[in-house]
Amino acid sequence: MSTDPSQVAAVIVAAGRGARAAHSSGPKQYAEIGGRPVLARAIEALATHPEVGKVLVVIHPDDRARYEAVLTGLDASKLLPPVPGAATRQGSVRCGLEALAASSPGLVLIHDAARPDLPAAVVSRVIAALATHDGAIPALPTADTLKRSDGTGVITDTVDRRGLFRAQTPQGFHFARILAAHRRAAEASSVECTDDAQVAELAGMRVALVEGAEANGKLTTAEDLAKAEAAWRQRENARLSDVRTGFGFDVHRFRDGDHLMLCGVRIPHERGVEGHSDADVGLHALTDALLGTIGAGDIGVHFPPSDPTWKGASSDRFVAEAMRLITMRGGVVANADVTILCEQPRIGPHREAMRARMAAILGIALDRVSVKATTTEGLGFTGRGEGLAAQAVVTVRLPPETVV
Ligand code: MG
Repeated sequence: MSTDPSQVAAVIVAAGRGARAAHSSGPKQYAEIGGRPVLARAIEALATHPEVGKVLVVIHPDDRARYEAVLTGLDASKLLPPVPGAATRQGSVRCGLEALAASSPGLVLIHDAARPDLPAAVVSRVIAALATHDGAIPALPTADTLKRSDGTGVITDTVDRRGLFRAQTPQGFHFARILAAHRRAAEASSVECTDDAQVAELAGMRVALVEGAEANGKLTTAEDLAKAEAAWRQRENARLSDVRTGFGFDVHRFRDGDHLMLCGVRIPHERGVEGHSDADVGLHALTDALLGTIGAGDIGVHFPPSDPTWKGASSDRFVAEAMRLITMRGGVVANADVTILCEQPRIGPHREAMRARMAAILGIALDRVSVKATTTEGLGFTGRGEGLAAQAVVTVRLPPETVV
């Protein structure tokens, strides 16, 4: 039985400074794994869960700009405006709960921002347990033998590990009860709780344990971040194992004019180029190469010259459409390599602008885009200056299950 999402809100605590990770770019929840911030991954795990209706993030007051950057590319439809946190984790959770008090959801999940790899099944188990308990937390049994020390590095005893669990988040509670428990704990202020289950326990609430997940570990140290990055890369390599190559070729004729478009860059020139669209041979060859990787025909099929829609069209639209088809299949572009054949104009002065423009259109890093140029030693139509040509080769990586 699934819970009505309008009854479930999630609070993500992201106000910590993360001193232990000592990450150069700031707090660890803003560090990137696989090019995406840890916090973005945590938000997405909860916001895409079908049983979660609203997500509220508690941030450090200094992190507003960082937080805004995290939202880039995220579906923000379930996100409430962020609220500033307090000096402690417990205080920050309280800020989040107070911000939800007016709308008072039936249930609340409280999650650490530094747990970016939260499986949906864990969220479902926590919510399901709330049907019969005041609270529920995911946890895993301890595998290591536990020792207690006297603080001088010497063992004083061995702790019986039976019945001991490692607590994870999200920790779920009936909203009104955990809010009341937090308010009381804040007044008492004798104990600083390290998780919300402890706050609940102090209030006499019954909190269930459900099965957590090893993947749902908390990123605390720089080593944790490095391990998470390596694990992500390994998963991506396994996921995008269907490697495809596509080739494209295009020719356009010179005509009167004062500029031409090449690889998305406007180049002043004593001649223009004939064509239905903006006649950018570089982007046309690139589009055909992209389409070639997924067997999706050629540029003429998608954008017929007979269609007035494309008259004078900026050719980056053709590339964007080819990219949309690849993205729909879960693919990514590994690299693009374009060679331009002409005597004039000289490509060298524009090469870096062309690379930057194509990297932006393709949404990939600059070092994955190459632009080369050659004359044809005065031979053939390019040599005689009748027109110019471009060739493109691209590599695309797709998940194997999309093979048809
Ligand atoms: Mg063309």
